[in-house]
Amino acid sequence: MQLLEAIESISRQRSVETVELALLQTLGQNFSEVEEALLLVEHDGRLWISSHWYAGRLCSSERLELLIDPQRLLVAREALLEGHAREGDNQAWRLATQDTPTQLLLLSGEQLHEDGQRALRSLITIVENFSRLLSEKNRDRLTGLLNRHQLEERILHALALAEDTALNQERRSRQRHPSWLAILDIDHFKQINDNYGHLFGDEVLLLVSRLMIDCFRREDQLFRYGGEEFVILLNDLDAHEVHLVLERFRHQLSEHDFPQLKSLTISIGYTRIGHQGSASAVLGQADQALYWAKQNGRNRLADYAQLLDEGQLQSVPSSSGSIDLF
Ligand code: GH3
Ligand code: MG
Ligand code: MG
Repeated sequence: MQLLEAIESISRQRSVETVELALLQTLGQNFSEVEEALLLVEHDGRLWISSHWYAGRLCSSERLELLIDPQRLLVAREALLEGHAREGDNQAWRLATQDTPTQLLLLSGEQLHEDGQRALRSLITIVENFSRLLSEKNRDRLTGLLNRHQLEERILHALALAEDTALNQERRSRQRHPSWLAILDIDHFKQINDNYGHLFGDEVLLLVSRLMIDCFRREDQLFRYGGEEFVILLNDLDAHEVHLVLERFRHQLSEHDFPQLKSLTISIGYTRIGHQGSASAVLGQADQALYWAKQNGRNRLADYAQLLDEGQLQSVPSSSGSIDLF
């Protein structure tokens, strides 16, 4: 009965991340054999703890490296690599959802009895199915990238992280550098539609999104923001690195051999996510930089802070960020 109530509560969640957190809590609270339950993300070939249930407490966003008893870890790692539950103490799953490359690790001193195993597997399957549905709702139909509705939540998360990092410099945070938001807009896209038709235009949008997926890191978040506009959220890069990464994409795209088109270029405006206070204010800054890039020749990138420094742009009062863009 308690488990049913937990499932009901999971089904009220509206993002894959919160569903996964609710799963962690449910496993910890309802299966007495589970001593610790962890959500892990893979990064730089290492496993990091993104959330941890232990002794009745749920901790998240610490992003500490997985450092537990080496023997238990060895068994758990093998199970993770195999991607399914194993006989024995520790059990691990690669959660099969599209949005987050999360892995679930359960540590237990004693083996779950057969009924418990079955209930646990069913619960995880329910969560995977529900997460897949949420993923589909969060994605753009044409390109499969995240859609605009997801953007606000994720910018707010990056803003919170920036505040948190500033407040807790001394804490061992996985993210040392800031996050950035870039808006990409295809140059003269209307002409492509006019010359080759809307369906061909759609195909170009699809190809551009594929190039984005190939070019950016797995952890970078890619969105279709509007018609021929895309947004990228990049974490943990310094100003020099973000410039290099975006410039590399701009260059790759301009060199890419698109069917029928002589050339295709994009303009990019980007800004650092810091203390803007609202998602709209962050987007507004990147959009101003994009507008400047369009006005100054297209096929180029523009950094909002740099344009401010050079006196090319005026900063906009933050009240303009209160417009509801979502
Ligand atoms: P600029 O270089 O200033 O960005 O010029 P542009 O022509 O790209 O800009 P504009 O915003 O005037 O035109 C964007 C066009 O994108 C207008 C619209 O017809 C087209 N568009 C918007 N959504 C879609 C879509 O889903 N599919 C296709 N094929 N075209 C779209
Ligand atoms: Mg546009
Ligand atoms: Mg355009």
